[in-house]
Amino acid sequence: MQKKVLLIGEGASLYIDPSKDVNTEFGIIKSSKLLKTKPGGLVKTHTGRRFFLVDMSTPDLARRIIRLPQIITLKDLGSIIMYLGIKPDSKVLEAGTGSGLSTCVIGQITVNGSVTSYEIRKDFAKIANKNVALFGLKNIKIINSDIKKGVKSKDFNSALLDLPDPWEVLPVISKNIKIGGRICTYLPSIIQVEKTIRKLPDGLKPERLIENREINWKMDVGRDVLRPESSGILHTGFLLFIRKYGK
Ligand code: SAM
Repeated sequence: MQKKVLLIGEGASLYIDPSKDVNTEFGIIKSSKLLKTKPGGLVKTHTGRRFFLVDMSTPDLARRIIRLPQIITLKDLGSIIMYLGIKPDSKVLEAGTGSGLSTCVIGQITVNGSVTSYEIRKDFAKIANKNVALFGLKNIKIINSDIKKGVKSKDFNSALLDLPDPWEVLPVISKNIKIGGRICTYLPSIIQVEKTIRKLPDGLKPERLIENREINWKMDVGRDVLRPESSGILHTGFLLFIRKYGK
């Protein structure tokens, strides 16, 4: 069952499993009440404190997944989805799956399409499948295999490669992407980006290279504090977008 997020008043939230009774500092809410409540509905603790029950959305789910290798951040996933042109009917190829956050976030968009994701490590593929279940998705296929050995399915609209050596993978998967389709490689070092561009196989051309910098701001307006945080994540990865122009 998909977990719910229980909102508690002023910006605070608590993640809960509605199949179990919930103990809050304001009293207990019975599972029988939670299961009967629709998303957006009001529930009360035994002391009468009011809470609203809502479904978890992408930022909530991203915080709750089981994380093993480094995930792609939501700031970068936003660009990946837009610049790859991913739509509800898109058929997307991915490698590696890792914890599966990118797999799941893309899978939430491709509701009438699919995501086929390759992961070389069995333990990671297993965890990623658990995260797919947390997101409640049915349009995702995780294949525990080295993508360099080849991809069976064809006619993908787009691909995301989040692995260290995409120049080894692009010649293998190029035939599986539709003409006009786009591929994004996600790489932490610009040296990897240069190597990828230099080794692009015939038919693939670089289209766009970006780096997103997200600066979070401290917001305590009551104490006249509204300024950038002094620490945070700056560099995550370079997003290289490649387009297929021919065979
Ligand atoms: N995109 C994922 C996310 O947002 O959760 C994280 C991917 S993680 C950084 C990179 C993954 O690529 C690792 O789990 C690694 O095992 C996998 N990998 C590396 N080379 C691979 C290959 N040739 N075929 C399939 N998976 C591979």
